[in-house]
Amino acid sequence: MTQTVNLDWNNLGFNYMNLPYRYRAYFKDGEWQNAGLVEDATITINEGSPVLHYGQEAFEGLKAYRCKDGSVNLFRPDQNAKRLQKSCQRLLMPEVPTEMFIDALKQVVSANKEYIPPYGTGASLYLRPFIIGVGENIGVHPAEEYIFSIFAMPVGNYFKGGLTPTNFLASEYDRAAHKGTGQAKVGGNYAASLFPGQQAQQQGFSDCIYLDPIEHKKIEEVGSANFFAITKDGKFVTPDSPSILPSVTKYSLLYLAEHHFNMPVEETDIYIDELDHLAEAGACGTAAVISPIGGFQIGDKFHVFYSETEVGPVTKKLYDELVGIQFGDRKAPEGWIVKVDEAKL
Ligand SMILES: *Cc1c(COP(=O)(O)O)cnc(C)c1O
Repeated sequence: MTQTVNLDWNNLGFNYMNLPYRYRAYFKDGEWQNAGLVEDATITINEGSPVLHYGQEAFEGLKAYRCKDGSVNLFRPDQNAKRLQKSCQRLLMPEVPTEMFIDALKQVVSANKEYIPPYGTGASLYLRPFIIGVGENIGVHPAEEYIFSIFAMPVGNYFKGGLTPTNFLASEYDRAAHKGTGQAKVGGNYAASLFPGQQAQQQGFSDCIYLDPIEHKKIEEVGSANFFAITKDGKFVTPDSPSILPSVTKYSLLYLAEHHFNMPVEETDIYIDELDHLAEAGACGTAAVISPIGGFQIGDKFHVFYSETEVGPVTKKLYDELVGIQFGDRKAPEGWIVKVDEAKL
């Protein structure tokens, strides 16, 4: 098995690291060209580039996991490819074909193999694909040229403390509108979320919870993660709204709840004044997997779900199953795991 570099694998956090290689491809004259690995972490673009002025950008986030036998798993990369294609359609950017996307991920993982955290540390190699509209431009119209890139960095847990519950604040702001770009993973949604996120953090909360943008009566998203809950009668529920970003982690948990644990599941409305029927709640996404929600501040009301200090049993069970699958310790549903070419590791 490959040697790894010497890093403090157990205390990585979620921080940028300049690894030796990243993938770049350039879209010009209607096609992707000059694709491959490069060493330069900087990108030089024209000052008129639409990404700089009008936010013509979309991104993805997924991880590569080192297994016990030394092999390396990608978790459902086809889902990220499809989601990026949808984001590109919404922002009038050229799509990256699924095969090109997955091949590029494998190249980046193999080229930076010394940085894949060892099995057993809980850490993994985070992959950040993104696409930007570039070129001489200033009018409000889509770019004629694009750069697609993927960089990697080893990461630990996104939220410090892992499966320890933290508290969240209901935001007065919205991150996205129903017919806006909420379903697309685009930088613009994140620009809109920086201020509400900072406000929540300054008041001692982990992040904010966004409510539905029409009436502010229903739960939508948790900062940059999806919301799910377990009802007191054992159902897995998650909000149904056109302004939520469809999380691969959320739909994976929903699938596991239904097919591995025989739980009823439902995408439904979750009203903030009817939280008492929920036994457990959590935020989910690639970076943190699951962050249990302890308390939820809504105006001057403070609602505690399961506990402010302990993770609930169903949340824990779902977490163990999903992480077990990602690291190759538990049997994955058909098609969920894509192996990186072992000859290159
Ligand atoms: C990326 C993202 C998520 C989580 O999606 P995963 O596919 O599970 O990583 C949730 N909400 C928002 C707003 C996101 O950008």
